[in-house]
Amino acid sequence: MAERICDSLWRASAPPGPELSPLKGSHDVKVAIVGGGFTGLSAALHLAKFGVSVAVIEAQEIGFGGSGRNVGLANAGLWLEPDQLDKAIGTEAGKVLYDALAVAPDYVYGLIAEYDIQCEPVRNGSLHAGVGKAGLAQLQRRYAQMAQRGAPVQLLNSAEAQSRIGSTKFNSALFDPRAGTIQPLAYARGLAHAALKEGAHLYDFSPVSSIVPQDNGWLLSTAEGEIRAEKVILATNAYSEHGVKEQARKFVPIHYSQLASKPLSDAQLAVVLPNKEGVWDTCTVMSSFRLDKQGRLVFGGMGGEGNVLSNWASQRVAEMFPVLSKVEWDYCWTGQIAYSEDHLPHCQQLQRGLYSVAGYSGRGIGPGTIMGKELAEWFTDRREALSVPTTVLRNIPMRELKRLFYEVGAQTYHLGQRSHALD
Ligand SMILES: Cc1cc2nc3c(=O)[nH]c(=O)nc-3n(C[C@H](O)[C@H](O)[C@H](O)COP(=O)(O)OP(=O)(O)OC[C@H]3O[C@@H](n4cnc5c(N)ncnc54)[C@H](O)[C@@H]3O)c2cc1C
Repeated sequence: MAERICDSLWRASAPPGPELSPLKGSHDVKVAIVGGGFTGLSAALHLAKFGVSVAVIEAQEIGFGGSGRNVGLANAGLWLEPDQLDKAIGTEAGKVLYDALAVAPDYVYGLIAEYDIQCEPVRNGSLHAGVGKAGLAQLQRRYAQMAQRGAPVQLLNSAEAQSRIGSTKFNSALFDPRAGTIQPLAYARGLAHAALKEGAHLYDFSPVSSIVPQDNGWLLSTAEGEIRAEKVILATNAYSEHGVKEQARKFVPIHYSQLASKPLSDAQLAVVLPNKEGVWDTCTVMSSFRLDKQGRLVFGGMGGEGNVLSNWASQRVAEMFPVLSKVEWDYCWTGQIAYSEDHLPHCQQLQRGLYSVAGYSGRGIGPGTIMGKELAEWFTDRREALSVPTTVLRNIPMRELKRLFYEVGAQTYHLGQRSHALD
């Protein structure tokens, strides 16, 4: 077997981002944004478009966080079932958020077209694949709730699901034609190019080490520079580090790892996802798979990268797709998902003029892009309120214990599945 490259496929295949420099010297802007992922870049792009002076300060490179590491499923809505959303925040607020995110893929693919973002956009829909009785029941529930709200979804029976996925391991699938796949790091880098084009200032390799109140706003400091701003957006989600580390205490960070195969042969591509939808399954310890532009299978599962995950992934892929019985992985990488306690994103006004948007719980391409846009509209009086709850989140009690519960649970599941299948 060829040596596996432990790096991200997305980093290896994304077009370069803009050439940026670290923040140096002293600057004044209306809005400063900490974090260069989908949320921060979308907010910067829209604020700049509305004529507001704005700067993004990123600790590492653009897209370093979840935005550059994710699966690339550009879905409508949230993880929660629509009825659960209504239960969590009330029917009226639930409808506002549901409606805002139902059109999120339209908005994402619209931006991609408007700014000619080279991010391998494919809009052939997504398949939420059913496993077992509980999986089928879950999809039937989701289908009924989404159809009732006017979503153009289809519940596929086992024969239809199996031919669409190319595997006999699923008994159903919920097809959502609004969704698609993208190369997520390329999308983040493209948003950065677009934000610069609209006049935003972007700085990389500039961890913000302190944010202190001033008479008329805030002073953000990095190793070599500082920025004064009337308003600040903390768009650091699961990757809250350095001067904003405290933010991370409001979410449980869970690892999710992915492997990318060598490009599949034409014969294999004729069987595996022939329509190139993105897929995730209904299992509690979820896995996902999709193809990239070169025909690589990108397979992901909960938990950190390592032998347990890659051995399980090889076996699971071979079981699902007998034509891939000897899959070879070229890339592997990991990211951290920020699970909020109610699995919803929140915008919090921490203090006057200091906002944080986070807690996407694994669905941030559409929601992050939309929240960035809505913040820009809100700050410029183009809208009265955001679609997400603006509750101030508490620190999660026993956060480390909860993190361990998920991580150890995922490892045990992968080990158990493997030894069971090897019996
Ligand atoms: C493995 C994985 C798979 C996923 N798959 C999907 C998917 O298929 N579809 C989907 O919709 N969503 C998915 N998600 C969720 C999605 O990626 C995130 O919700 C989204 O990227 C969050 O974007 P963001 O801009 O809010 O934060 P991030 O992209 O995480 O950006 C935060 C940035 O803040 C920077 N930062 C932190 N502290 C500082 C500081 N002090 N100073 C300066 N900068 C700082 C970090 O370096 C980082 O770049 C996935 C997430 C992961 C991790």
